[in-house]
Amino acid sequence: MADPHPHVYFRDRLVPAHEATLGVATSAVLYGLSVYTVFPVHVDDGVRSAFRLRDHYRRLVESCRIIGIDRFADEWSFDRFVAVAGELVAANAPTSDVFVRATVHVDESIPGTRVRGCGTVVSMFVYDAVPIVPQDGMRLGTSTWRRIPDYAIPSRAKVNGAYVNSVLAKQGAIDAGYDDAVFLDGAGHVCELSAANIFVVRGGTLITPDVSCDILDGINRRTVLTLAAEEGIRVEERTVDLTELYIADEVFATGTSAGVAPVVEVDGRTVGEGVPGPVCEVLRKRHAAALRSDDGRGWVSYL
Ligand code: PMP
Repeated sequence: MADPHPHVYFRDRLVPAHEATLGVATSAVLYGLSVYTVFPVHVDDGVRSAFRLRDHYRRLVESCRIIGIDRFADEWSFDRFVAVAGELVAANAPTSDVFVRATVHVDESIPGTRVRGCGTVVSMFVYDAVPIVPQDGMRLGTSTWRRIPDYAIPSRAKVNGAYVNSVLAKQGAIDAGYDDAVFLDGAGHVCELSAANIFVVRGGTLITPDVSCDILDGINRRTVLTLAAEEGIRVEERTVDLTELYIADEVFATGTSAGVAPVVEVDGRTVGEGVPGPVCEVLRKRHAAALRSDDGRGWVSYL
């Protein structure tokens, strides 16, 4: 991730980035007890448009509820969230696209691992929108690390501590010469990448693991499912076998920081023709357009 831009929102105000620090004895630091989201802001000639901000806010509220961080929803309305995001982005005045990472940290040094009733602090910072995976055809390797099951750390909650699992998979993939990892669940079914959802195209049908497959309920996953339906593409959300990736016509990934990213190789096997496929290309263009203009859907908020 790129460095934060100079102004960071922390403890109810904008501060220089180096002043936005948490204590070493807080639960956020000790246990990774924070929840977060990252949303994109498209910058075009001074116009700043955030994508699906309400959905990002809602997922943050839901992450808090699942984990038991009980104060955030009371203290942070959607209007407050938007106002702070707007103030932060305006203060940094980015000249090109950025990502904004909003985090709710458990900011209390408590004996034992508890969460209910603990104090929280919200941070928000802006950084350059650099994709985390190649955009012209990436190579994936199946991870030997399995995706944390929902019954251990809930997949719907975007919890900082759970990302150790992603780091293990991503580092393993890089060490083995791949761009990213395919996470399987305990039964060997496909879940997602280290920080992106996965889609497969077979015989014209777009297939993706359903939300009960230990995946993050990705906002761009939902976006692509909507856009695919609008394009008249048949969609299936279901269990996906690893071997389906090997015989797919196309594979691609979605995410805020991944975009809609084509996959050209999985475990040394060429996907389709070994180049980005037509379904991915159509959805990639539709997704890029949706990030920039609203089309009456309410997906874009101007900051
Ligand atoms: N899965 C994981 C594990 C992720 O970290 C991300 C990135 N947030 C995604 C999927 C994609 O989610 P979104 O489309 O909401 O960015």
